Amino acid sequence: MTVLIVSDIHANLVAFEAVLEAAGDVSTIWNLGDVVGYGPKPRECIDRITQLQPVVSLIGNHDWAAIGRLQLDEFNPVARYATYWTTAQLTATHMKYLEGLPNRVIEDDWMLVHASPRHPIWEYVYTAKAAHENFELFDAPVCFLGHSHVQLFISETMARSGEAPIQPVDCDTLLIDSERFIVNPGSVGQPRDNNPHAAFALYDTEKRVVTFRRIPYDIEKTQQQMEAAGLPRPLITRLALGV
Ligand code: ZN
Repeated sequence: MTVLIVSDIHANLVAFEAVLEAAGDVSTIWNLGDVVGYGPKPRECIDRITQLQPVVSLIGNHDWAAIGRLQLDEFNPVARYATYWTTAQLTATHMKYLEGLPNRVIEDDWMLVHASPRHPIWEYVYTAKAAHENFELFDAPVCFLGHSHVQLFISETMARSGEAPIQPVDCDTLLIDSERFIVNPGSVGQPRDNNPHAAFALYDTEKRVVTFRRIPYDIEKTQQQMEAAGLPRPLITRLALGV
């Protein structure tokens, strides 16, 4: 089957719709968390994810924050403001949906988690050291994770020898065969790797091939929605920069 893997949608419905269209006909969707937070359309993004059943959906730190399960001291003032705004947008049904999400899914052939096997909600994995330590904590051939908003992959051998993860370009592929990998599909709604294009991955589970994708979307439209919602200026400007 072909799986669309998305992460860190962050209430950016315009980007999410563009990704769904670009992905085309897929068998299912794995959402690695942070559907809400930062962006202007939290309710609509949850509704869209819900419509797309069957889907694996994980909880992220911003989803947790939006339902009051996280101390906001860890967030900077801008993220904190956006969290209060997000919470105010959500209905009881949306809250209940987020409350029911697991923080990881472990199968024989893959592990799915928002942040890392060690800290499912919190840890950023973009160094060889963090990857190396996390390879010890799962058995599957591949762990898909999000949270850093940086599209990348790293093998167990690279991590052990201290080699930095690789940041792919659009349409690069990765075969999961003799090596184990950690793979981040990147962020749909707020990329932070100096590329503003929405990021996602497709995974062919039979051929075990990951295809990394980057696609342009109507950033200005999302920015206008954020402005209308009164969301903080730094969150609006960063979208066009991919930071
Ligand atoms: Zn995030």
